[in-house]
Formats: sequence, C-alpha cells, structure tokens
Amino acid sequence: MAKYKLEYIWLDGYTPLANMRSKTQIKEFASFPKLADLPFWGFDGSSTKQAEGRSSDCVLRPVACFPDSTRKNGVLVMCDVMMPDGKTPHPSNTRATIPDDDGAWFGFEQEYFFFKDGAPLGFPRGGFPEPQGPYYTGVGYKNVGCIAREIVEKHIDICLDAGINLEGINAEVAKGQWEFQIFGKGSRSAADQMWVARYLLARLGETYGVDIEWECKPLRGAFNAPLDWNGSGMHANFSTTHMREKGGKEHFEKLMAAFSKHMDEHIAVYGPDNHLRLTGLHETQSIDKFTYGIADRGSSIRIPHSFVNAGYKGYLEDRRPNSAADPYLVAGRILKTILTVPTT
Ligand code: ADP
Ligand code: MN
Ligand code: MN
Ligand code: MN
Repeated sequence: MAKYKLEYIWLDGYTPLANMRSKTQIKEFASFPKLADLPFWGFDGSSTKQAEGRSSDCVLRPVACFPDSTRKNGVLVMCDVMMPDGKTPHPSNTRATIPDDDGAWFGFEQEYFFFKDGAPLGFPRGGFPEPQGPYYTGVGYKNVGCIAREIVEKHIDICLDAGINLEGINAEVAKGQWEFQIFGKGSRSAADQMWVARYLLARLGETYGVDIEWECKPLRGAFNAPLDWNGSGMHANFSTTHMREKGGKEHFEKLMAAFSKHMDEHIAVYGPDNHLRLTGLHETQSIDKFTYGIADRGSSIRIPHSFVNAGYKGYLEDRRPNSAADPYLVAGRILKTILTVPTT
C-alpha cells in the first residue's frame, strides 16, 4: 500500500469566467488508482459562488485522472460539481451539458499570455517592445525572453508524463504570447485534458512569479496599448464519425447552414469580451458575421485543404472560441449544432 496525493480540480461558480480550484486529499491504494477507485468528495460552495453559507456543501465527482510527475505518488483528479445528492449536476457544471458522442473528436489550440508584474513577459518596464513580427515561432532572447521557454518545456513534460494528449506548442504573434494544442477522442476528453493542462500551466507559473493571462485581448482596454496587438484564441477543430467517414459537400453545406442559424448561441459560449478580438483583423472574422472558406484564416470556420481534397470529409476549424472560453461549453455547443443536421 502507498499513500497517494489526490489533487481534486474543479471549476468554481464565478461568471463570466470560472476559476480553477483544487485541494488535496491523501488516500491509500495498493497501486496507482483508477477513476472508479476515487471517492466523491466535497467542498464549501459558499466560498466559490456555488452555494449559500447555510447549505454550503457541494459534491466533487471525479471524471478523469492523470499521474502528477511533480509530486511523489501524485494524482490529478478532474472533477465536476454535483448537488448534495451526488446525482444532479450543479448549475455551474458545464460538462454536464455536453451531448454523448464517442465518435466526436476535438482539437483545441490554446493561446495565452505569460504576465509578470502586470505586463506580458518580456515587455520593458512601463513601455512596449518592438511591434509584433519576429515573435511568432521566434527564437532568441530578444524575441522570447529568458524564462518563457523553460516554462513551456516543463509544461510539455508534465503534460506528457500525465498522459495528456498535448500535440505541440509554439510562440505566438505577440511578445509573451504562446500556444499549446490538445487533442482528444470522445465528446468530453479533449476538454477534460484542456482543463488539466491549463491547471498545470497555471500551477507551474507560481514558481516563476508568472501568471497565465487567459483573457482574449489583454493588450487592449486595461493595458492601454498604443499599437494593436493580437488577441488570444482557442480554435476548436472538430469532427464526428459521419464527417470523417461519409461527409460530402451536401452534408457540409447543411452543417454550415446550421452553424449560421445558431451563430448567436455559439458566440454566447465562445468566451467573454470576444468582440474585442473578433474584429475582422488579425486572422479573425467580425463577431457579427458567419463565414467559411478554404484555408481562410479570416473566416469564422476554416476548411482545411485536406477536407476538400478528401471529398468534404475530415475535420473543420471553428476559429471563433477565445482563449478564456470554457472548452466544455464550446464542445457542447458545436455538438448540439451538428446534431440538428440529419446524416441520412
Ligand atoms: P493551425 O495553427 O494551422 O490552425 P494546429 O496544428 O495548431 O493548426 O492545430 C490543428 C488541430 O486540429 C490540432 O489540435 C489537431 O489535434 C486537430 N485535429 C486534427 N485532426 C482532427 C480531427 N480529425 N478531428 C478533430 N480535430 C483534429
Ligand atoms: Mn495552431
Ligand atoms: Mn495560434
Ligand atoms: Mn488554428
């Protein structure tokens, strides 16, 4: 028997952006625990905007678990929040809104900024660096600074150790801005892994005195930048069994008609302040338009060349979700819209 450190991770009730919360419990197991071995747990929902003080208990239900290589016998336990009966999803539980579909695949491209002392990492104190241009996929101290690379490298290793399907990383267009990609099969898997990968990055930043800025346009508004800097997205690449195996131009056009019809419902869950980012500039479409195009990074949905070449089969990229969007809500909305389209 060994004592395992189980880190239960969940989303709180703050709006429009939920925060990640976590706490540790120690339990003894003969070997690395499986999901089914992990008990439900609880927390004080009155401290997380999920309950009133008089009846404050919320229930944590483990939904995915991963090894944590940074801790001896560490386990990362992604949880969703349930009502005290343990059966009813809490109103803040966005995971519960995702339709079941084992054949759905998602790939999320998470962009974010490193922030230190109130500014993006690598920005000179009280000022601005050279305009963007050399930073995207850049190399060298003047382009990426001196700790960002160390943090992203460690993040890769911790994610891979955990068995998270991290597919890559790159430095992004703005200074201090980076991206990582997560892929998963099944309607909830990529989103579960995304939340744990976000958690690991935020936790890693603590050691460096660096925060992860998930907001989609941190260099506008509060920061008052003189030049326009890129915002951060969380492009959602998606496919279903039908899209991959049958597809066809007719089905694709019906899909796009459904996405156009449900445009407002999509934008509603694609992250706060998205009007600051979806301007029609910086490889985005305006927030009030729905368009699609082959290899078109200025459209709402980009159709990869591979999709057309395969006879309208494969995956599509929804470029509208922003970096702060909840991947549970994004995956759920995309699937709900796809389900309105008949597949016969
Ligand atoms: P880009 O930056 O050119 O938009 P990336 O390479 O960063 O593209 O991301 C592409 C994403 O598409 C990856 O996250 C990948 O996992 C995902 N993806 C690839 N094939 C599929 C598929 N069949 N279904 C869903 N997602 C997919
Ligand atoms: Mn990308
Ligand atoms: Mn990118
Ligand atoms: Mn993309």
